[in-house]
Amino acid sequence: MTYVVVGGGLAGAKAVETLRDEGFEGPVTLIGTETEIPYERPPLSKGLLLGTDSVDSTYVHPAEWYPEHDVTLRGGTTVTSIDRAAKLLRLDGGDEVAYEKLLLATGSTPRPLPVPGGRRALLLRTLGDSHRISEAVTGSSRVVVVGAGWIGLEVAAAARSRGATVDVVEVARLPLLNVLGPEIAAAFAALHRANGVTLHLGAQVEAVDADTVRLADGTTLVADVVIAGIGVAPNAGLAADAGLAVDNGVLVDRRLATSDPDIFAAGDIANVDHPFLKHRVRVEHWATALNTGPVAAKAMLGQDVSYDKLPYFYTDQFDLGMEYTGWVAPGAKTEVVVRGDLATREFIAFWLIDGKVAAGMNVNVWDVTDPIEALIRSEREIDRARLADSGVALPDLLG
Ligand code: NAP
Repeated sequence: MTYVVVGGGLAGAKAVETLRDEGFEGPVTLIGTETEIPYERPPLSKGLLLGTDSVDSTYVHPAEWYPEHDVTLRGGTTVTSIDRAAKLLRLDGGDEVAYEKLLLATGSTPRPLPVPGGRRALLLRTLGDSHRISEAVTGSSRVVVVGAGWIGLEVAAAARSRGATVDVVEVARLPLLNVLGPEIAAAFAALHRANGVTLHLGAQVEAVDADTVRLADGTTLVADVVIAGIGVAPNAGLAADAGLAVDNGVLVDRRLATSDPDIFAAGDIANVDHPFLKHRVRVEHWATALNTGPVAAKAMLGQDVSYDKLPYFYTDQFDLGMEYTGWVAPGAKTEVVVRGDLATREFIAFWLIDGKVAAGMNVNVWDVTDPIEALIRSEREIDRARLADSGVALPDLLG
């Protein structure tokens, strides 16, 4: 009755923790390609680069937790194939591991920068990557960051806070444009400019040379360090090769079961049939790993669970801290209502679809994610003027 989890990230670690918390006493094996014990990734682009977090604080459990809970950790190990008929995993060293139930939580791989010299660009996914960036960036470095998504902006903020000169190159006309839309994306552009980051927007990198980055418009940026954060691809190959249903990640139902009832998927790779959103959603954020791991573990144990958490993520950049709750499909037609002041960076932005709140982002305003979630879950049309009025408490909007 071995329960096997493939993927030694947060989703995998929370899954094995839940198996034990729920009283499962059979053998549990956690297999991961990294040699580190499971750790959380948010500090890799924030506190670890700033020096405010320690490596120890990133670990999901201390090393001794695994033997204490009789969880076999097989780090530095890659699963090469799944034999679903024999219920066996084949490992890179030639070993085979039998499973009764299997959870795939294989995460994502960063896209390399696809230009000549692009391999010079550091990528950020692992503790080792974060450490390399930390070593490379000093107060006198000239850093070029390619991509103004979450990795790019967080790394740019950390590098600038360490005193480096920072250029950010982004193909879109604003940072985070696809996620936040023009009005709120502009607030992130203003934040970075106010802190001395130079933004090159609507810009393409043509090549990375020994100590420069060349842009398509002829601009040459001096660069001691080049860091790329241009998105990730879900590691769904193992599932696809095993014949599981895969389409933009691994297709799972509300219980996180794949097209094989003995195999489940969690974290970045899980494309979930979401009961509240009523469509499929795949979310590459920390909270998804945190919350899908336990649900998948309970489903493995045969419990009738349902993953219906709203997508949630957060960021810290310079003096801006924010949380985002909800889901807006890229390119969806939305109306933005702002409560508070964009200029002072203390506000809540709401994205409305057909007059109903689809998502909310609190910026330097705290303890409001529950009422934001309640607004979303109410699926009610909310009066725009009252939504924008900081004098009206959020819960009263539903009163
Ligand atoms: P991301 O958030 O998807 O952002 C990638 C950015 O790079 C996008 O703005 C994209 O523009 C741009 N881009 C793509 N190709 C480019 C090119 N050749 N030149 C310049 N810009 C280019 O991905 P990421 O920042 O690499 O982060 C990786 C993953 O980690 C994501 O899933 C992210 O959600 C997650 N993460 C989350 C957090 C957080 O929640 N705070 C922090 C770090 C990482 P287009 O959008 O126009 O393609």
